[in-house]
Amino acid sequence: MILTVTMNPSVDISYPIEDFKLDDVNRVEHTRKTAGGKGLNVARVIKQMGEDVLATGVLGGTIGDYIVRELMKSEIANHFFKINQESRNCIAILHDGKQTEILESGPTLTVEEGAAFLETFRLLLSDVSVVTISGSLPKGLESDFYRAMVELGREKGIPVILDTSGEALRQVLTHRVKPFAIKPNLTELSQLTGREVEQSAASLQQVLSAEIFQGIEWIVVSLGGDGAFVKQGADYFRVKIPAINVVNPVGSGDATVAGIAVALDKELPVADVLKTAMTTGMLNTMEAGTGHIEYSKFEHFFKLVEVKKIDL
Ligand code: ATP
Repeated sequence: MILTVTMNPSVDISYPIEDFKLDDVNRVEHTRKTAGGKGLNVARVIKQMGEDVLATGVLGGTIGDYIVRELMKSEIANHFFKINQESRNCIAILHDGKQTEILESGPTLTVEEGAAFLETFRLLLSDVSVVTISGSLPKGLESDFYRAMVELGREKGIPVILDTSGEALRQVLTHRVKPFAIKPNLTELSQLTGREVEQSAASLQQVLSAEIFQGIEWIVVSLGGDGAFVKQGADYFRVKIPAINVVNPVGSGDATVAGIAVALDKELPVADVLKTAMTTGMLNTMEAGTGHIEYSKFEHFFKLVEVKKIDL
């Protein structure tokens, strides 16, 4: 079973308002509310792939209850650490072909709550074979919080796939114990290295050979419609994908993480892990829903992904 971690989940509310007026009343007829947060997207895609998944993280209040109900509706097993504060709403107003977002920052956790969650996480590790950790940390937790989770995974010999950015990612990568896999995009790599990272194989290969990346078994640099550049062990790969009809690319990175998790859990060969990850990412872009794939199309697109090992 795969454990997905979401430390600051949300209820994502979308308000389609054709003629949005500032400083006036706007009425909405068709409101959409879904359980959101990168880790929950990962959980949904794993479930849609027909694999066992358990969603964990931190939530609270009536918004937290709503998130749990939504997960139950999708038959996603979950075990969240409950806090006394409300989880957050994230609002997207869809107007004039644009999207204006209002994102609550969410609850502030106490140090004790952070420690209690870690204990919940430690106990859950007994029943799982792969862990994914996605997204930012809630307020109140130190930026090195994910380090402790990666260490707990390592102690139990469970691969941890970490998909976060900024200081939370840097703190983990500068630590002695590294995650098993990471999935940065070019923006996240640039943030991490402090300079603009180019997409060429030569440039990416040079960046990924830096000290900070040593000891990470899988580094999947996702390149949107251009596929991915990958370091696996000491080997480098370029992964190419076909041109497809993109409906909504949001959440493709999360779908890619879901693909990596499922393929690692099945202990697939390297090329198949990468093909799986690219296919789930592509399938997500073809659907309107964020973190949603149509799994019946998997085989067809899997066969169209090309994995090429780079000669060093
Ligand atoms: P997000 O933050 O929206 O979740 P990301 O930046 O983490 O995305 P991307 O690199 O955009 O991740 O996409 C992940 C994968 O999804 C890509 O490697 C690819 O397989 C697929 N994908 C994304 N965008 C496209 C696209 N325009 N066409 C085809 N496939 C795409």
